[in-house]
Amino acid sequence: MDKFIVANWKMNNDFSDIPVFVDYLKENASGEKNMIVCVPSVMVKTFADTATGIAEAGAENCYYLEKGAYTGEISPQMVKSAGATTVLVGHSERRQLFGETNELLNKKVLAALDAGLKVIYCIGETLEEKPNYQEVLRKELVEGLANVKSFENLIVAYEPIWAIGTGKVATIEDIDEIHTFVKETISSNFGANVPILYGGSVKPSNSGEILSLDSVGGVLIGGASLKAEDYVKIVKSRG
Ligand code: PEP
Repeated sequence: MDKFIVANWKMNNDFSDIPVFVDYLKENASGEKNMIVCVPSVMVKTFADTATGIAEAGAENCYYLEKGAYTGEISPQMVKSAGATTVLVGHSERRQLFGETNELLNKKVLAALDAGLKVIYCIGETLEEKPNYQEVLRKELVEGLANVKSFENLIVAYEPIWAIGTGKVATIEDIDEIHTFVKETISSNFGANVPILYGGSVKPSNSGEILSLDSVGGVLIGGASLKAEDYVKIVKSRG
């Protein structure tokens, strides 16, 4: 299976960037599989419609309930009906800036899987937590993935928080060691084997080496995913 190349636009780019981005993909990456572009929720439908047959659309977040008086929230069913295949759950910015806990994220994971979405569940440690990364990641995995019945649509993204948007990348040895730990933790707690993406200052100049690791099932890219040229270079670097 082709490794996943997942873009996370965060609160960047706008509607006018969508056709430019997709046209570039059409011309330079047609036929490539497992390209997922997570965009701000208002843009999901436009991205999905524009990129049909070229790339998959994803949302960057969703709530865990289907409907009701939750002003400003969007349900997994809404994400799905907008044409997205995928949703990010538990990105470190959601955890750190918006106080999302493992307990809340677990509800989101279960609801999004139930709605038929692929879930990219994000985990990672801060610089202070780095010496104890095993404890931090184990807790995020065990609590965040509790009660998941089928792991078929589950992807995990390991993103060291100290490497996101900072230009700092974990060493290739660290990435291999931690991905192996994450795989073993998921296998021993849930008996499942899921792709583990790496995220944190991935760019065209380092993606080839990261993607060459067997323990890496793909990459999650913030800054370098905003321009289609860089995104496509990363797609091509998976070899
Ligand atoms: C991210 O936001 O998931 C991310 C990895 O960002 P960046 O690539 O900019 O470090």
